[in-house]
Amino acid sequence: MIVVMKPGVEQKHVDHVVELIKQYGLKHHTIVGTDRTVVAAIGDDRGMDTSAIENAPMVDEIVPILKPYKVASREIKSEPSVIPIGGGQTIGGRKFGVIAGPCSVENEKQIIMTAKDVAKAGAVGLRGGAFKPRTSPYEFQGLGEEGLKLLAKARDETGLSVCTEVMSIDQMDLVAEYADVLQIGTRNMHNFNLLQAAGKTGKPVMLKRGWSASLKEFLLAAEYIINEGNQNVILCERGIRTHEQYCRNTLALGIIPAVKHESHLPIVIDPSQGTGHAYMVPSMCKAALAAGADGLLIEVHPDPEHAMTDGAQSITTESFAKMMDELKRVAEAVDREA
Ligand code: PEP
Ligand code: MN
Repeated sequence: MIVVMKPGVEQKHVDHVVELIKQYGLKHHTIVGTDRTVVAAIGDDRGMDTSAIENAPMVDEIVPILKPYKVASREIKSEPSVIPIGGGQTIGGRKFGVIAGPCSVENEKQIIMTAKDVAKAGAVGLRGGAFKPRTSPYEFQGLGEEGLKLLAKARDETGLSVCTEVMSIDQMDLVAEYADVLQIGTRNMHNFNLLQAAGKTGKPVMLKRGWSASLKEFLLAAEYIINEGNQNVILCERGIRTHEQYCRNTLALGIIPAVKHESHLPIVIDPSQGTGHAYMVPSMCKAALAAGADGLLIEVHPDPEHAMTDGAQSITTESFAKMMDELKRVAEAVDREA
């Protein structure tokens, strides 16, 4: 961190700042410029609220040097992480990993049919909510444990890895018993105790970005999981809230190169919550791959017109198969595999 002093600072003010820096156990180095004096605090100050030094007399501003995140950052691990998701499948690396399925598990026929179709088209995982975070308490809340059992059956029949959401700590053991990948939804990205509980299970975690979270907050949320000894975190961009009306959320694909720049963790794109409209989904999938994403978390339904949740943004199994075919060509162009 660098402490920038105000113009006209006196030696006693600089001495005071130096004293504060020493109290934090950091080394100091004062640079007297023609206009400004700055004091560099040397050492790792993450975990300390050194910004409090801003309160000292004649301090203008505090400029942090170290990134606030550590274990998710490229500074700690320069090579990209490849996350095993069960069934010999992975997310991260050369292969574009697609996890597909309905928004919610509705019944046995729906989930088994979808699982078979997405597996045939080349998906590596099956998604489907059994516990659904619904804005309205009057809407379908998911089948609960019954839904988890149906997901396990679909895994047995297809070999797909199962990704499903856990909404609370008291659901954790139950969901972890059935799921291969624990999904933490956008509404829970800031639920730090839930992140820690998911970390403790040792299962891979699909962490969705909060719809108003910054990249910094997103990566720090991932660190809550990693700090429990669980390295297996997959980041998921699912769109953020903006003023736009033509889409449900604004799918911030710019986060892909930013995550690649800052972190070793893989990032997948959810083009379904990210747009809210089925017609936009295939374009966003291709764009995600071209921009360097590691995969997709995508909503596919055998009969979207009758879906119990998120029908407008769910693509049919037929359009999914067609899109997967198109992805192969994009992958070839960007030296990836789909
Ligand atoms: C979902 O994947 O169906 C879902 C509820 O996602 P999000 O948490 O991103 O809204
Ligand atoms: Mn959904």
